[in-house]
Amino acid sequence: MELSEITTIYATNFPGESSGLSLIGSAYEFAKTAHKDQKRASGETYFVHVFETARQLAYWKLDGATVAAGFLHDTIEDCDIPPKAISDAFGPEVLFLVEGVTKLSKLRYKGQARSVESLRKMMLALSRDLRVIFIKLADRLHNMKTLEYLPLQKQKTIAAETAEIFAPLATRLGMQSLAGELEDLSFPYLHPEALQWIRDNLKETYEERNQYLQRIQPLIEQELERAGVHPIRIDSRAKRISSLYKKLLRYDMNIEHIYDLVAMRIIVEKNEECYLALGAIHNLWKPLPGRIKDYIALPKPNGYQSLHTTVFCEDNRPTEFQIRTLGMHERNENGTAAYWFYESQKGEKAYRRHAALSADNRESAVVSQLKEWQNQFPGSKEFIDALKIDIFSDRIFVLTPKGEVVDLPAGSTPVDFAYRIHSVIGDSCVGAKVNNRIVPLDYRLQSGDMLEILTQKNKKPSDTWMRFIKTHYAAKKIKSALHKKTVIPKKTEYRMTCSDRVGLIKDVSSVFSRNRITIVSMSSSDDKFPQIKVIAAIERKDRAEQILLKLKKVEGIREISYQLI
Ligand code: MN
Repeated sequence: MELSEITTIYATNFPGESSGLSLIGSAYEFAKTAHKDQKRASGETYFVHVFETARQLAYWKLDGATVAAGFLHDTIEDCDIPPKAISDAFGPEVLFLVEGVTKLSKLRYKGQARSVESLRKMMLALSRDLRVIFIKLADRLHNMKTLEYLPLQKQKTIAAETAEIFAPLATRLGMQSLAGELEDLSFPYLHPEALQWIRDNLKETYEERNQYLQRIQPLIEQELERAGVHPIRIDSRAKRISSLYKKLLRYDMNIEHIYDLVAMRIIVEKNEECYLALGAIHNLWKPLPGRIKDYIALPKPNGYQSLHTTVFCEDNRPTEFQIRTLGMHERNENGTAAYWFYESQKGEKAYRRHAALSADNRESAVVSQLKEWQNQFPGSKEFIDALKIDIFSDRIFVLTPKGEVVDLPAGSTPVDFAYRIHSVIGDSCVGAKVNNRIVPLDYRLQSGDMLEILTQKNKKPSDTWMRFIKTHYAAKKIKSALHKKTVIPKKTEYRMTCSDRVGLIKDVSSVFSRNRITIVSMSSSDDKFPQIKVIAAIERKDRAEQILLKLKKVEGIREISYQLI
């Protein structure tokens, strides 16, 4: 854990940037002191974790502030270091990054499939700077590598969160190899039986596959030579266990149908050589129809570029080849910002779909520009500046007390939130708590707020709400609730003439209470033959009749009548 392990990587990426170097150096010392008495569940010193996080960030070619924040990312939460101490020592930018990561770690993944997409968006919205996400990803990568030391239930939750939230996030940022690594690291905790099955069914073939690859490699080299292609290198890669499993599920666990268990990867210098190499391979072995993919001319939506083909190779064995330039390869594996896009959200209300769509359009515009810049100036200041984007400036993401994410337009209030949860909650809303503090109903919500709505039965919405609410949905519901005529439940009035006696009033009222009927009001005149009037909460005539019969039996009642009012 020498500082130089990280500063050498940084200095290669940013030659001559001495201010970054000194920032990293002081962050290294600061974190070492702050975490000095802490241990990880593995028994290692805690500093190992922040060191590995910072090292990963340097490896991803991130700037000095980000690498420094990697060292400091757990100091606020785990060491109670006051934020001011960080800004005093490292400036507001580093503090912003550290606080961003701290905020993200408060989000809890509850495993509701519906909110996974919102949670990913919320992370992007909350971080307001993609560098915060990169720190979180580096942090998660190291946590996954040391997951075995945690209790079983925690392992499962963290692994699920990694596979559902962080791996897809990495994919959308164009970080293929990180996404694959995160998926593979979580796989044993999520699918232990499947892992055993795959091991049992692939065990014998593993060695065999390696020998096979070694056998065909010289054949390819020769043929490429003949075609005038000089590959930078030829790699063979075994398919990742997580992606193998996904594919097996699609093919009824039939391993015979998986052609890319092992793929050969040919890395060349220029675009033209990719196509020449493809021709050379097809010259050697016959391609499987329908398996030739030109992702160079037509890149995948996340920016992935490569040629793919599967051929009947030696022994008629289907084998996949991937051909790409070194530039494409690096972007495919580690591209810090490709463009990502969101699936259209099924089953949403039309107005939400429109709002989401426009945010996504802007998002892909911003990110394709990022991708362009990254190609031209990887690791440059322009590129780092471009990461400070606020993609979802017109959306906010707030949490229910159960940790579910609710996506609302910016400027929304607790009333908008209440109606989004349920119109009954909206109609009966009387107050709201944001992060456990009572706020007025016209409070403007902010991303990350945790909301609780206070309700009261039979409460009606107020027309003053129309002045501050933001969503059309709430407006529509408030209008319809205000126009609804309130139906006052019916009551029954009994009038009795009686001969007075001790306990008469009590006996009359006990008829109602024995039948669990609320007496709304009761009055009696004060004379020898008192008139008693009872208004009771009885809505139906048949019920009113039943009670009438029971009242008739009360001693002293001489005349009785009733009417529904
Ligand atoms: Mn951490």
